[in-house]
Amino acid sequence: MGQYTPMIQQYLKIKAEYQDAFLFFRLGDFYEMFFEDAIQASQELEITLTSRDGGTEERIPMCGVPYHSASGYIETLIQKGYKVAICEQTEDPKQAKGVVRREVVQLITPGTVMEGKGISSKENNYIAAVSNAEGQSFGLAYTDLSTGENRVTNIKGSSDLLLDELASIGAKEVIADPDEDKELIRQIQNRCQAVISFEEEFHTKEEFLPVIQDLHIKEHQDSAQRLLHYLKKTQKRSLDHLQPFVIYETHQHMKIDFYSKRNLEITEPIRGTDKKGTLVWLLDETATAMGGRLLRQWIDKPLVSKTEIEKRYLLVELFIEHYFERLDLQELLKSVYDLERLAGRVAFGNANARDLIQLKKSLLQIPSIRSLIKGMEHDETDRLAKKLDPCEDLAELLERAVAEHPPISVKEGGIIKDGYHVELDELRDASRNGKSWIAALEKEEREKTGIKSLKVGYNRVFGYYIEVTRANVKNLEEGRYERKQTLANAERFITPELKEKEALILQADERSIELEYELFLDLRDRVKAFIPRLQQTAKIISEIDIYQSFATVSEERHYVKPHLHFTRELVVENGRHPVVEKVMGSQEYVPNDCRMDEDKEILLITGPNMSGKSTYMRQVALTAIMAQIGCFVPASQAKLPIFDQIFTRIGAADDLISGQSTFMVEMLEAKNAITNATENSLILFDEIGRGTSTYDGMALAQAIIEYIHDEIGAKTLFSTHYHELTELEQKLAHVSNVHVSAVEQQGKLVFLHKVKKGPADKSYGIHVAELAELPHKLIRRAEEILTELEKNERAYQPSATPEKALEAGESPSNEVQEQLTFFPAPKESAMDKQGKKVLKEIENLNLLEMTPLEAMNVLFSLQKKVKK
Ligand code: ADP
Repeated sequence: MGQYTPMIQQYLKIKAEYQDAFLFFRLGDFYEMFFEDAIQASQELEITLTSRDGGTEERIPMCGVPYHSASGYIETLIQKGYKVAICEQTEDPKQAKGVVRREVVQLITPGTVMEGKGISSKENNYIAAVSNAEGQSFGLAYTDLSTGENRVTNIKGSSDLLLDELASIGAKEVIADPDEDKELIRQIQNRCQAVISFEEEFHTKEEFLPVIQDLHIKEHQDSAQRLLHYLKKTQKRSLDHLQPFVIYETHQHMKIDFYSKRNLEITEPIRGTDKKGTLVWLLDETATAMGGRLLRQWIDKPLVSKTEIEKRYLLVELFIEHYFERLDLQELLKSVYDLERLAGRVAFGNANARDLIQLKKSLLQIPSIRSLIKGMEHDETDRLAKKLDPCEDLAELLERAVAEHPPISVKEGGIIKDGYHVELDELRDASRNGKSWIAALEKEEREKTGIKSLKVGYNRVFGYYIEVTRANVKNLEEGRYERKQTLANAERFITPELKEKEALILQADERSIELEYELFLDLRDRVKAFIPRLQQTAKIISEIDIYQSFATVSEERHYVKPHLHFTRELVVENGRHPVVEKVMGSQEYVPNDCRMDEDKEILLITGPNMSGKSTYMRQVALTAIMAQIGCFVPASQAKLPIFDQIFTRIGAADDLISGQSTFMVEMLEAKNAITNATENSLILFDEIGRGTSTYDGMALAQAIIEYIHDEIGAKTLFSTHYHELTELEQKLAHVSNVHVSAVEQQGKLVFLHKVKKGPADKSYGIHVAELAELPHKLIRRAEEILTELEKNERAYQPSATPEKALEAGESPSNEVQEQLTFFPAPKESAMDKQGKKVLKEIENLNLLEMTPLEAMNVLFSLQKKVKK
């Protein structure tokens, strides 16, 4: 250490405390980075890497970004999942004896960033903390620092539930105990793609009391306090806008695990990042950012309480009925800015005067919104109207204090209105008087000197001056004018009176800018006192915004109010997949009924590929979700039970991150459903068993159906291309068949997308291949093989129980054996022999003992053999 210059020593000392962050070290007008930070940042930010003398023989790697444009670079690093520690000079360099004092003033992390590229106005940015009681019970607390919302829950049982909840809230950063189980940490990183931070402190601090007052159980307290300690340490400033923690229980909501959410494209698309095609995209007609964020929260956590859900229906219905009020409301809402985030910025101390103007403009809309809502004349709308607080006192204060069009900067004046503060008015008068004296001077001097072209001007270096062209200089009175600057054709002069006025003006300007800044800070502090009221109004505005959004979508798309009930019957008439319908247009979309009586638990869906089986299954799930978030549903009539959970195994949601095979993922998802579903759950299984060989898959599919039928009793939609399974309808009391129809026209397959009772009567695989325009020759050959197989096929009869199948000697391995012999083995060709030899050689290689060069050589010789 001693070998470095004092400044580098200071750097290293501070950096030691922020090992996992880039340290932005303020040096004059730049933030500089050194050593490893500099090398890495120069790559990540594509900026030049230089070096500087640090007292050692070797120069120190360095790179830097200008202070005034640092925010863009910080955003880039945060978006890439890094943390940035901002280290400022905390004393005036002119006053410093030795190295200027520097301190980290904020640690910006993916979970605490409040603005910029990574922050979407309609999405929350959550940071979460977990506490773990020996893997049995977890506490989970999370906050959105930009809005101050705090929530906490405890999760009993497996860590999978914790992971699901973390993924579902989309936490960007998760704070854990440094001693937390490494495997759990790895899973959090994988599943949630979250940045992990550590915080060991979780004890109560006096200043936390206002936000943790309602927390009484240990899991809640530990996780919430861990979060607060971390925020306090990293943000190093007032967190007055944090709201008291709201406790929730995961069973108060319909649970949809991480994979199912993705499969059903609830808030995120299966592929890519474009939200188009998701449920949130369909339902979001909100006019405010706050409403957009709350909508996401609602969609993410459908309700299970009939009363709560029906309360929402009632409001949606009211908003549908009051069409004109709704239109007016939408217009008013468009002028309401993001009150929650504005409040956050005020508390955080980064709100500027423009933010205060936005705040005022928003508040001015509230009285009209309130009277519109009140005009709907219902207890529920009255309840909302009552809670809308226009904060008149604040609106009036801001109206009096803040100029209509203030600059972005809060340090350059132009913020405070005349008449707000006596001293400021006096200073401004002094400045204005001085300026008008100067304005009059030009005329006066022209008359006095007789020079028509004489001008009075101002520049930053010389201040006010009198400018005369070179030719006219001779007309100036001797001794009165002092020469200040010479230009090509003119000379600039000053006079003692001019300088005197100038000093007055500049002093007044300087002081008034200072005073304006002080007044602004004071004003911002006064706004702080209103934060809880602003937050409550923001909540109600968001709620109203969602009702108008649901009403708008429901009316436009002809959705109906569902009838919820406690029996287990499900009837959807003319149901549609809301997103597919919107994308393809309602003319094209074929509506379908879905009926499951109280005692019918499993619908087996057959039909050719591409006929619409999975669309049908998804539409039932989406209908249930829409119903339980309080929206109307895409059907002409819907009678629905309340589902506690939805499980899906649809399509290829391959878990690429953890590198598991498709079939393994399929089985894991099936296991998840089977172990967690109750009789109140909805399960969607799309072609389970497809990922393995025919009989293997069919046996599994049948066993799964039987298990759900006998052990769980959950409402289940099960699509399959194993036609043989349709016979289960006769064997299992609660199973019924439906199929998606298709007709053959002139040898081609035409999809009708219509779901009908009973099993499909034919497999249409070859027709689909034909539609996909596989070569004609190939299609003909497939038909030949099919005919051949159909002739030879030993009919597969689904047995009633697996034991019976074994008794009858139909062991799965026999069947696989048989399946393999469907294709007669061709004679072994010379090429196969060579191939086998090469394979054997590869098998015998001891890769761990080879150098890369040796491996290259072997590969080269193998390739030669193959080429031969
Ligand atoms: P499957 O699961 O049977 O292979 P999908 O459900 O994936 O079939 O549907 C295939 C395509 O058929 C979808 O992309 C959609 O465009 C169309 N489709 C499905 N259901 C309908 C419907 N009810 N009305 C109109 N088109 C539909």
